[in-house]
Amino acid sequence: MARYIGSKCRQCRREGEKLFLKGDKCYTSKCAMENRPFPPGQHGQRRTRMSDYAMQLREKQKLRRVYGLMEKQFRLYYKEADSQKGSTGENLLQLLECRLDNVVYRMGFAASRSEARQLVRHNGITINGRKMNIPSYQVKPGETVAVADGAKEQLRIQAAMDSQDSRGFAEWLDVDAKKKEGIFKSRPERSELPASYKEHLVVELYSK
Ligand code: SF4
Repeated sequence: MARYIGSKCRQCRREGEKLFLKGDKCYTSKCAMENRPFPPGQHGQRRTRMSDYAMQLREKQKLRRVYGLMEKQFRLYYKEADSQKGSTGENLLQLLECRLDNVVYRMGFAASRSEARQLVRHNGITINGRKMNIPSYQVKPGETVAVADGAKEQLRIQAAMDSQDSRGFAEWLDVDAKKKEGIFKSRPERSELPASYKEHLVVELYSK
């Protein structure tokens, strides 16, 4: 599967906000958004007014980058969200949040979604006791996600868990930090997700 391999901080600077793509560094003064909070490139510091289309496009790019997806995958999630009952925007966010790599990240087993994806790919995660190495797997309410026995002693997992533990866990997850496992209690409500996501702009963009 294709993936973006360029600078992650550049993506945050392009979107004008912290997307938390690099783990602990994002919470320190080394964060590029703290030091250079303007778009990258020669004309990055120019003031420009954005059209409606530009705002929709930027929001779509932002969400795509937060969850580390390429355009084609992201559009498939939109199609699926649109075919479900209820608000397309909320459905879209729920589908993205239910991805296994995202759940692993939210449970604190990895410092970033890209690290979580690598952990899943390398057989470091189980679902209800069985190994699962597909990052896009949709986790279902009631399922237990755990670090596999062979990976539990990894120092980077412990460090990520300690950091997440100090920041707190999402309401829709029940995480046992000592056992390095957690129950995915339910799909998150819109109010439980970051207010900075403007999913309605993505819906406007794709429904043109
Ligand atoms: Fe974004 Fe993290 Fe880089 Fe800051 S450190 S610019 S939040 S990826």
